[in-house]
Amino acid sequence: MENKKELRTWLNKMELDHPLVIAGPCSAETEDQLLNIAHQLKDSDATVLRAGIWKPRTRPGNFEGVGALGLKWLQRAKEETGMKTTTEVANANHVDLAMEHDVDILWIGARTTVSPFIVQEIAEALRGTDKPVLIKNPVNPDLSLWLGAVERMYKADIPNLGVIHRGFSTYEKTRYRNNPEWQIPIDLQNRFPDLPLILDPSHIAGKRDIIFDLCQTALDLNFDGLMVETHHDPENAWSDAAQQITPDSLKQMTIDLRIRKQEGDEVEFRNRLSTQRTQIDVLDHKLIELLGKRMKISDEIGRLKRENNVAILQSRRWNEILGKMILEGEDHNLSEEFVLRIYKAIHQESINHQKKVVNEV
Ligand code: PEP
Ligand code: MN
Repeated sequence: MENKKELRTWLNKMELDHPLVIAGPCSAETEDQLLNIAHQLKDSDATVLRAGIWKPRTRPGNFEGVGALGLKWLQRAKEETGMKTTTEVANANHVDLAMEHDVDILWIGARTTVSPFIVQEIAEALRGTDKPVLIKNPVNPDLSLWLGAVERMYKADIPNLGVIHRGFSTYEKTRYRNNPEWQIPIDLQNRFPDLPLILDPSHIAGKRDIIFDLCQTALDLNFDGLMVETHHDPENAWSDAAQQITPDSLKQMTIDLRIRKQEGDEVEFRNRLSTQRTQIDVLDHKLIELLGKRMKISDEIGRLKRENNVAILQSRRWNEILGKMILEGEDHNLSEEFVLRIYKAIHQESINHQKKVVNEV
């Protein structure tokens, strides 16, 4: 995909003096619910109202959305509040219905982006539209699949595109519902700086209390907008109750977030510096997390050695690791001396861990 400036025209046309804020419930539940939330959001930074009409649920038996009926409620919310509207489309029929009801922005969900057949079907149904289309990352951490969906839209003459980062699912439970894996959207942004990048902190967090921090990190990384699930009575929401926030919390959050403006050489310099520093922070967190994981495995090896009465230090294995890592380091522009120093330190820490385990009574 070429780096086309027109990809962000739709966002520039909105003439916002702050990042784009999309807010609204996970699902449209009733007309009253949607209108109530829309009216509470009317005087906030949110200029686009979101609501899921067709809900892709991982397991059957949960609330699967009100269907096309909800599109009329979105239309009414737009008439009454002047907000733009957006909903998820997951097949060609959804696209036709959303177009008939004049939804302003369409988004493609994480479970759809994984399927090139469905993405292509949606692209054909949307062919030539000038409505903005936002593509969520696929559920699995695969940048090509994500970009593939963007390319399919672009090739169907849909020029107004954007992407939404909603995190990636993992088998192992972490503090997030979907791991942010910030490196993936950062890579995407570095390759396609003109593709508007929006954060969905709600589906990354899975719970209200870390939404603010996720939004701040995204703004520091120069994201163009936020899509936050917002409900007048989050605890009693029919879907994703734990992660929704009230319109009042959203308003407070947009006041508290540090938002960087991008003008002038000096400001530009500082913005870029702070974006790069946040990128480094992301990698540093990852380094510590990986080292912790490595030591945990070391502990397990220590236990195994104790049970089998084997010596902790295995020089042959250690020399093998070192040789391999020095070679790999060369591929990544790291000097032999540096790799040696790092690995000696890691090895020593690993021995310390194993000594502790072996001597446990
Ligand atoms: C949603 O936005 O409510 C949703 C279902 O999101 P995702 O596709 O990211 O799971
Ligand atoms: Mn949701």
